[in-house]
Amino acid sequence: MAIPYAEVIGEPIVHSKSPLLHRFWLEKSGLEGAYRAVRVSAEHGSVQAYLDRAMADPDWRGCNVTAPHKRAIVPHLDRLSREAEAAGAVNVVTREGTQLVGHNSDGRGFLEPLRPLLAQSHLFRMARLFGAGGAARAIAHALVDEGFTLVIASRDAAKAEQLLSEIRGEHHAAPLSYFAEPTDFVFDGRSGLLDLVINATPLGMQGEARLALDWSHVPPGSIVYDAVYAPLQTALLTEARARGHRAIDGLHMLIGQAAIAFELFFGRAAPREHDEELRRLLTR
Ligand code: NAP
Repeated sequence: MAIPYAEVIGEPIVHSKSPLLHRFWLEKSGLEGAYRAVRVSAEHGSVQAYLDRAMADPDWRGCNVTAPHKRAIVPHLDRLSREAEAAGAVNVVTREGTQLVGHNSDGRGFLEPLRPLLAQSHLFRMARLFGAGGAARAIAHALVDEGFTLVIASRDAAKAEQLLSEIRGEHHAAPLSYFAEPTDFVFDGRSGLLDLVINATPLGMQGEARLALDWSHVPPGSIVYDAVYAPLQTALLTEARARGHRAIDGLHMLIGQAAIAFELFFGRAAPREHDEELRRLLTR
C-alpha cells in the first residue's frame, strides 16, 4: 500500500531539523507516513522540476521550504495563504486538488508560547524586533495582527524601512547599532503594558558574533525572545534571565511552526504532549 509522505526542500539540507520533528510526531501518532529531506538547488528550473515530480505522485502531501527557496518558490505556486502573502515568503507547500498552495507558519509558530499573554488585554503592546529578513517579516506581520506597535532594527536601516512600508499602522525603524549604545530614556511604570524584545537575526548562533544590546533599551518586565535555537541558551537569553526577564528560546517557534505544517500534511494535530521529549531530542 502506498504511504503518504512529506518532504523538506532546500540547499544545504542536511542540517534541517524538520525530518526529526515530523518523524517523531508520525511515530508518536501511530500514523502511517514518511518524511524526508530533499536537496533542491537554486539552479534555474530545479524548484519547478521538483514540484512537477511531486504533483505527479498522489502520495506526496506537501513540503517544507527552507533557504534559499522561501521567497523564490512563490511564483511557482497557484495560491498563497493570507500569512504567506503578507510575509512574501513560504515555508510550507500543500496540494489542494490540482493546485499548489503556499503557507507561512513561522508567524503563528512564533506567537504560540505568547498565546496565554495575548489572551489578556493590555493598554499598549510594543515589540522591539531585531532583523528584517525572512523570520522577522513573518514575526512582524503576526505581531501587528496582535495589536503591537513595532520598532524594527536592522543593520541596514533601509531594509527595516522597507518592511515597515508593507505593514499597516504607525511603527518605527532604527539601525541595529542604535541599540548597542546606552539610551537615557526613562521607562515609566509599565503596568498594563506588554513589551517584547526579539532577536530575529543570526547573531548569537553558534559561530556568529553575539547581539550587541545595551540593556537600557529593554523596558522592565519585557519578555526576551530569541529566534535562534542553536545554541538553545544564547548569550541574550542568559543575560535576560540574569536580569529577571522572562526568556523564550527559538525551539518554541521551531516546534510551533512545524506543528502547523504537520497538520496540513497529515490531517491530524501534532501530538504535543511529548514536547519535553522532543525538545531533548532536538538539543542532543
Ligand atoms: P535571513 O532571511 O537571512 O535574515 C537575517 C536578518 O538578520 C537580516 O535582517 C540580516 O540583515 C540580519 N543579519 C544577518 N547577519 C547579521 C549580522 N552579522 N549583524 C546584523 N544583522 C545581521 O534569515 P532568517 O531566516 O530571517 O533567520 C534569522 C534567524 O532566525 C536565524 O538565526 C534563524 O536560525 C532563526 N530562525 C528561527 C526560526 C525558528 O523556528 N526558531 C525560524 C526561522 C529563522 P541583512 O538583510 O542586512 O543581511
